[in-house]
Amino acid sequence: MPVHLIQHPIVQDILVALRDTRTDAPAFRRLGTQISVLLAAEALRDLPTREAMVTTPLAAARGRRVAADVVVVPVLRAGLGMLDAVLELWPAARVGHIGLQRDEMTAIASRYYAKLPNGLNDSFVIMIDPMLATGGSAVVALDLLREAGAKNIRIICIVAAPEGVALVERHHPDVHIYTPVVDEGLNAQKYILPGLGDFGDRLYGTL
Ligand code: URA
Repeated sequence: MPVHLIQHPIVQDILVALRDTRTDAPAFRRLGTQISVLLAAEALRDLPTREAMVTTPLAAARGRRVAADVVVVPVLRAGLGMLDAVLELWPAARVGHIGLQRDEMTAIASRYYAKLPNGLNDSFVIMIDPMLATGGSAVVALDLLREAGAKNIRIICIVAAPEGVALVERHHPDVHIYTPVVDEGLNAQKYILPGLGDFGDRLYGTL
């Protein structure tokens, strides 16, 4: 499965700021949006286009327009922190939501909410979840998207762990992952190291 490491200097700079424990919630939200715009642009680099003509105030101009249905699916709650960015980049995107909760004892993710747009078969589906940690939630969410008919799926995350990448690869080998970094691994509580802490808590100030 292709992992696309986004090395853009601005992406890498923002990642450092997001990791920094001194970054407060307002700054964290702003940086999360900025990095997500750049990651989404990379993840949509291969969108199909069609030829188009427009008339400028001076003359006719030939160009290309996007010819694809884009669907963005945040995994609640932290994925919501990346949604505005994708909609800013491509306002025509349709939006689905997937809510997952993790059993505290078994760490197994299960679905508590799913609302997806119809007709995903030919769509470019971007699943957004900032932290690809164990990969358990990602696999459950990807299963759901597959059941709904999605064929062309990519994940955007802000930090990935090798464990999460491996699990997604095992269950969904055709799903592309766009991330600025694959970190060292998980700690005993399944947080990514060095990571950036709990993304949702830092985003919403629920620390
Ligand atoms: N979720 C987070 O928010 N952070 C991690 O490090 C792992 C999962």
